[in-house]
Amino acid sequence: MRSFLLVLGFAAAVLVAPAARAQNGAEVCDGDDLDWAAPAFANAQSFSSLVWTPFGPTETGWGTYLPLIQQEIGTNCAPQSAAFARRLAEFQFRYGLPATGWFDAATFQVFRGVWQERRPFIMARARQEPCPDPPPLYQLGYLVESEEHADRLTRLLRRDVLDAYRRMVEAARREVPEVARNPELLQIFSGFRDPEADAARCAASGNCDGLRRAVCSAHRTGTAVDLYVGQAPGLGVDNTSQTSREAMTGGATYRWLVKNAGRFGFVPYVYEPWHWEWVSPTGGYVEAAAP
Ligand SMILES: [Zn+2]
Repeated sequence: MRSFLLVLGFAAAVLVAPAARAQNGAEVCDGDDLDWAAPAFANAQSFSSLVWTPFGPTETGWGTYLPLIQQEIGTNCAPQSAAFARRLAEFQFRYGLPATGWFDAATFQVFRGVWQERRPFIMARARQEPCPDPPPLYQLGYLVESEEHADRLTRLLRRDVLDAYRRMVEAARREVPEVARNPELLQIFSGFRDPEADAARCAASGNCDGLRRAVCSAHRTGTAVDLYVGQAPGLGVDNTSQTSREAMTGGATYRWLVKNAGRFGFVPYVYEPWHWEWVSPTGGYVEAAAP
C-alpha cells in the first residue's frame, strides 16, 4: 500500500512538474528533466517530515538549514524542485557521497563539516591548539548605542571587526527593506566577552549556560558577534529550539546574511543563526589592523 502511494505520489509529481515550472531569475527550477523527479519528490516529503537529530535533540524537517544549503549548492530553487535535487547530487558527488539528490542526515553532516572548516577559531581548537588570549585592550572598540541590542551582554568588539560589521550593516540597510525599516535587526547582543568576566558570571549566577562559553569561546577573540536576526514570539534572541531557529533562518535578514556576510568577512555557525565569526583576508582570526 505504502509503495503504491509512493508511486502515485511520484506520478503526480511528474505530472504537475511542467505546470509548476518556476523560474528564479535565469534559473529554471522545474525543467522537464525527469531524472530528478523522484529525488525532488522525496525531498518535498522529508523537507517537512524528516525526523532526525542533527545536533542531539529531535528535529522535524530541515527547513532551518535551507538557506545555508541553497547557498552551498548554488541554487535559489525550492527543495521540492528538480534543480535543487540535481545541485544536491552534484554536491554529494564532490564529497564522495552517493549522488542521489536526496537530502539525508549523512549529507547534512558533510555540509556541517564544510561549514565548520571555514571557522578558523574552531579549526584551531580541533587541532588542540591552546585557547587564545583575549586581544590587548587597545585593539577593542566600543559599539555606539544604536548598534547595541537591548538584550546585550557586552559592548566591545575588535576594531577591525567593528569596521567590517559597520560596512555590512550599511549594505544590509540598502539591500534589505526589512533591515532598513527595523533598526533592531543586526544589532549586536554579544561581541567581545572577557573570559574572566564570563567565568565569574557563570560562577556567581550558577547559570552556566555558559560553561561551554566560559571555557573557551570564540567571543574571547573579539571577532565573534551575536546579531539580532529576529526571534520567534516568546522565545529569546539566542534560543536554540527548532521553533526559534526556524523562525530566524526563515527571515529576510538571515537569508541576506547567508548570501552576503562573506563579502564582509563573516562566516556562519549553522546551529546558532545569530552567531557569526569574522575571518581575516589571510584566513585567520588573530590578525588585527594596526592600532
Ligand atoms: Zn555567539
